[in-house]
Amino acid sequence: MPVAVSSPFSVAQFQALARLRGPTGPRCDLCAAPLSAPHDHLLSPGRTVVCACAACGLLLGAAAGRYRKLPTRVLRLGPNAITPEDWAALAIPIGVAFLFRRDNGAGAAIYPGPAGVIEAELDAAVWVRLAASCPPIAAMAPEVEGVLAQRMAPRPELPYPPPPRHYVAPRDRCLALAAILRREWRGFGGGDGAWRALDQCFAALDREAVDLTAQCRTAVELAGAGREPPHA
Ligand SMILES: [Zn+2]
Repeated sequence: MPVAVSSPFSVAQFQALARLRGPTGPRCDLCAAPLSAPHDHLLSPGRTVVCACAACGLLLGAAAGRYRKLPTRVLRLGPNAITPEDWAALAIPIGVAFLFRRDNGAGAAIYPGPAGVIEAELDAAVWVRLAASCPPIAAMAPEVEGVLAQRMAPRPELPYPPPPRHYVAPRDRCLALAAILRREWRGFGGGDGAWRALDQCFAALDREAVDLTAQCRTAVELAGAGREPPHA
């Protein structure tokens, strides 16, 4: 079972996202200079995501610095990148999560919860298996990017469950998605607005993504390993 830990970054990150819409326009979180769009996002030593102007991004986001520049790449992984049995073993209580590698190599997840963003440790054996079977997951930069996964249960208006979606994406995309879900979610099931917003976020990822589905496990490979291929 994942163990929820404190998420010291969540409040600051929501504040940062709110500032993007502030009346005076977006400003650099480090020097208060006006920001252009798009602009850099940096991961601070305290693991908060901050908006940075070009000068701060260049100065502080350099390699081996205390701040790390978030990548911008988005990679599309196959529907079998995380099998149903591995997803179940991760014990994430919601169908949307961001799975990433810590600096020490351990796997962790960030997902929306009733009181805000939750960060949890992942089962070590499952994390090792995921990285070993999907080269793009193994190659992810620690802390700053991860797998944004959508594993939704069947919805009443659909005759079949939507296929799982997996994208390697930077950490700020996960936080933006969590903020949108928190704003739109209604009642127990989320409501149409939340579902639409979720679909729009993943559609935007898909438009940007470089297709790496060929580097993930195929149905044939899963069958050869004695595992049921969920999505041929
Ligand atoms: Zn700045």
